[in-house]
Amino acid sequence: MKSAVDLDECMEVAHSLSKEFFDHLDEWPVSPQLSHKELKAKWVTELPQAGTEPKTVVRELYESALPGLTINQGGKFFSWVIGGSHPASIGADWLTSSWDQNCGLYLTSPSASIAEEISGAWLKELLNIPPLASFGFVTGGQMANFTCLAAARNYLFHQVGWDIEKHGFYGAPRIRIVCGEYKHNTIVRSLRLLGFGSESIEEVATDKLGRMLPGDLEKVLMKEERIPAIVIMQAGEIHTGAFDPFVSLIPIARRYNCWVHIDGAFGLWAAVHDEYKHLMNGADKADSWSTDGHKWLNLPYDSGYAFVAHQDAHFLAFTQMAHYLRQDEKARDPYNWTPELSRRARGFTTYTLIRELGRSGIRELVGRSCQLTQLFRDELSGTEGIEILAEPIINQLILRFIDSNEQDAESTDIFTQKVISEINGTGKTLFQSSVFKGRKCMRISVSGWKTTEQDVKEVCNLVKECLKNVKKKSKS
Ligand SMILES: *Cc1c(COP(=O)(O)O)cnc(C)c1O
Repeated sequence: MKSAVDLDECMEVAHSLSKEFFDHLDEWPVSPQLSHKELKAKWVTELPQAGTEPKTVVRELYESALPGLTINQGGKFFSWVIGGSHPASIGADWLTSSWDQNCGLYLTSPSASIAEEISGAWLKELLNIPPLASFGFVTGGQMANFTCLAAARNYLFHQVGWDIEKHGFYGAPRIRIVCGEYKHNTIVRSLRLLGFGSESIEEVATDKLGRMLPGDLEKVLMKEERIPAIVIMQAGEIHTGAFDPFVSLIPIARRYNCWVHIDGAFGLWAAVHDEYKHLMNGADKADSWSTDGHKWLNLPYDSGYAFVAHQDAHFLAFTQMAHYLRQDEKARDPYNWTPELSRRARGFTTYTLIRELGRSGIRELVGRSCQLTQLFRDELSGTEGIEILAEPIINQLILRFIDSNEQDAESTDIFTQKVISEINGTGKTLFQSSVFKGRKCMRISVSGWKTTEQDVKEVCNLVKECLKNVKKKSKS
């Protein structure tokens, strides 16, 4: 049968090209060095009128895509918290495609539903989230935030006697939204999608690491103390890795009848490690939590998790059923807990990865990333022209570059950007350029499982070399 042969051949080609990709990770530029025009020229751009042999299109996809790939699967990628994919999760991801299960209902795929049921419980145990919390497997942190905030919206409107799911916002009473100054952009977008609008956000001032100030939270809440509010906190600020002080903040929010959401896209994973779990003290008292699988856990993309302490609010915000009724009390219909109906069976990769690593392997992954971030700090801090802007808390570090000739803030910003461009232009590593508390900085995020001490040391030498080159150029 021709189609069976095609399938075999496509899988073989995909397997051998994946192998080639992994075998040469150190050789590809970490960030694509070609222009958009040059990259696009590698692709077929005219709509194909006739088909092409399956194994040929798969091979040609590889050739077209490779020059424009970012090599976050390697050990020298430090821009954003992206991470790589662990071996067993890649295997599981392939099987997920082979099986092509629709994870909407228990009926459409009992196994997909059961894999989520089991790994959802494991995740709560790992992350110290109350065992009775409900959960949803979503695309990533963005949709995890959206899902949790939709549950918050349902809950708080219900408290003031308004059925938001039925009546929407027309004529609704007001709900307040309170966030720290350094909330993630996906929080703002979730609030927009939920009908709150970005201007409804009231900001709480933060300290020098981006942590909400308890006194200021109280001040903001006191202003209109009778109006219920969603207070959005953060575990793991993207520049400093800082955690909001949950122990002080959550009791304040409780006094004002608030819903507390914690955005912990990567930071929530600090809970698995004895040395870092104190950062999460008090976080178990929140009402909802969001995190990612595809960041620090090193799963392939399309993996985030929403957890909600109030099952009913979570269910009512998403269900399409008239009431809380399941065909089989024990079976879980995943679509009641996520924005999508039909979707990829995300539980298979999560289940497989947690089995591959176990609690100890996940703890080790988190611990190693934090130690390597500290190594970056130690290797770079003594160098003239490098200023560490904040001591690492977990896996994030920010620094800037200073040319001794140039004194004012603006020229330091320009110089910092020049050095970052010089480093990234080598194609040997990748860092993020960002602005924190008004200052241009280079951000280092360590989250990939492949990164070694050797990688960090080599990259630190490269950073110093690039700094020297840019200094020389600015003098001449
Ligand atoms: C990355 C990130 C998000 C968004 O997660 P995605 O998986 O990219 O959608 C949200 N919040 C924080 C703090 C993040 O770091």
